Amino acid sequence: MVGAGRSGTTVLASILGEVPGCASAGEIRWLWERGVLDGRPCGCGEKPATCPVWSKVIEACLSTPGPDGVLPTVQSIVAAQQRLDETRHRLRVLRGAGGGDEDPALRLVRHVTGLVVRSFAEASGAGVVIDTSKRPLDAAVMAQVPGIDHYVLHMLRDPRAVAHSWRRAKSFSVGEETRTMGTRKLPATVRRWVANALGTEAVHRHVSPDHWKRLRYEDFCAQPVESMDELLSMMGVPGRPPFEDAGTVRLRPNHIVAGNPSRFTVGSVRIRVDEEWKTAMSRRDRMLVTTSTWPLLHRYGYPWRA
Ligand SMILES: [Zn+2]
Repeated sequence: MVGAGRSGTTVLASILGEVPGCASAGEIRWLWERGVLDGRPCGCGEKPATCPVWSKVIEACLSTPGPDGVLPTVQSIVAAQQRLDETRHRLRVLRGAGGGDEDPALRLVRHVTGLVVRSFAEASGAGVVIDTSKRPLDAAVMAQVPGIDHYVLHMLRDPRAVAHSWRRAKSFSVGEETRTMGTRKLPATVRRWVANALGTEAVHRHVSPDHWKRLRYEDFCAQPVESMDELLSMMGVPGRPPFEDAGTVRLRPNHIVAGNPSRFTVGSVRIRVDEEWKTAMSRRDRMLVTTSTWPLLHRYGYPWRA
């Protein structure tokens, strides 16, 4: 999945993970840094190093020699990921979605990503792995992992809603610990939203049309059952999520690593569109986001006015 943060990707992943044959891995990109090094909990509440699924994935990755014949370490993987994320390399990695780049860092990240996907599939007994890394860069890496039939879901949300959501501090508890999600100032959110959309368009060119879908968060919330049907049909998955009615789905504990704290939500979950920005955001801020994201806003079918 690609899209800006706070666009509903984790909720969508939690629902997709309930479909027989599918398993949601979460933000695979952050497994090493946030998961292994920082010890942030998996959806099951355990740290990845002690989670029954992720511990197997980590072991598989660290015990398989990389493309240069050397065993990767957590540090070498994180260093390679950070190198690809440097501004001067980003465009090259995006172009690499079309293949042909033999940069050692890119080869290592591709190799490890492939191992993560395959060993997560094996450990969770699923044929379809859902990754919500969200950045176009990671989709470009995934596009060239050999042996994986890669589908891309571009998840969009009105940038005014995204900007408003990033300004709200959100607390959540894991076990006995209470944590707060980071907040982001408006200009930073707008810059990232635009960069994400442009990068996604760059990757789009290298993905076949029958492996690509764009879904707006607002449309998904209005018609979750139909949206899921379309998405699963594209991937040729026969199962469907456990919807209790047109807007409610039943979620069980998962093994989603990194991502929105909504990954800890279990039980009956009502899908509701969050449009607080329409009433709570100042006119000035709304105008600022609208003018800075136009014409992309228009391209994705969002109106000028709320
Ligand atoms: Zn877990």
